Amino acid sequence: MIIVMKAGATKKEKDEVLKRIRELGYTPHVIHGTTRDVIGAIGDERGKLVLQTIEPMHGVESVVPILQPYKLASKEVMKESSIIRISDSVSIGGSKIVVMAGPCSVESEKQIIESAEAVKKAGADMLRGGAFKPRTSPYSFQGLEEEGLKLLAKAREITGLPFVTEVINPETADLVAEYADMLQIGARNSQNFALLKKVGQLRKPVLLKRGMAMTIQELLMSAEYILSEGNQSVILCERGIRTFETATRNTLDLAAVPVLRSKTHLPVVIDPSHATGNHHYVASMSLAAVAAGADGLIIEVHPDPEHASSDGPQSLKPAKFADLMEKMRRVAAAVDKTI
Ligand code: PEP
Ligand code: MN
Repeated sequence: MIIVMKAGATKKEKDEVLKRIRELGYTPHVIHGTTRDVIGAIGDERGKLVLQTIEPMHGVESVVPILQPYKLASKEVMKESSIIRISDSVSIGGSKIVVMAGPCSVESEKQIIESAEAVKKAGADMLRGGAFKPRTSPYSFQGLEEEGLKLLAKAREITGLPFVTEVINPETADLVAEYADMLQIGARNSQNFALLKKVGQLRKPVLLKRGMAMTIQELLMSAEYILSEGNQSVILCERGIRTFETATRNTLDLAAVPVLRSKTHLPVVIDPSHATGNHHYVASMSLAAVAAGADGLIIEVHPDPEHASSDGPQSLKPAKFADLMEKMRRVAAAVDKTI
């Protein structure tokens, strides 16, 4: 249920409503709108009609059921798009498209700093790089782990770029959160409910990737796991889904951008690198993502992709990335955005 407060409701009235929600056995989540607050009352769906008794309380305008199975992620709870703050200088969800770029994995100090400097020079807003890598094969490079996090922090110190890096299990989530500006939940983990709950308890923004065989509704239900734990900073990422097509690594579902826009207030990012698996296709899909209205992009860039420890074939060289940034700026202007 959503409790819509009146525009002029006082703090005391709101506190009374929060207290009543708790007494009824539900958890309140306050969402601050531009003109009024709404309170999501989350809990057992079966007894939710009892929440209607809140309607006559002072300061309450209405109590309305949320029809979708995802509640806090739903557009019903908040009509305007969420703008999620990552750092003093970076927020995702406004008219500025946020570009995150860097290698698939952190490999060495030289590699990550060279990458960070190159993507910064081209105008990227954030650095990406995996320190803990979830690999399909146990024999593939698994990442530098904490050493990788330290190197990412060093790259941030040098360039000023905040970074996003993957968290692969609940046990190492606190460690990753100590270093990272944004936590990435990878495609292979996007229905790892224990991990989703864990990052929901942390106070760091989360980039939630869509699983390879996940419907849009399932993606929103995974976002709901994070939101319902109290972390309201969730950004969704479409990174290609598995279909019968083998010409690309995955199939980029670009329609996910307008579909998600119609269902959720959460920002949507596109990953054209994992979606295509081939550096030749990354630029076209990046431009298309900007045109489709994506709030951000996450793009793999490597100074020496031929020798990359992971995902070299889909990584752009810095010069190609700089060229792409220039083109994306022109497409962004056509859809009233900036990069
Ligand atoms: C990555 O970003 O390097 C990655 C592993 O992505 P995904 O989870 O989308 O495969
Ligand atoms: Mn990768």
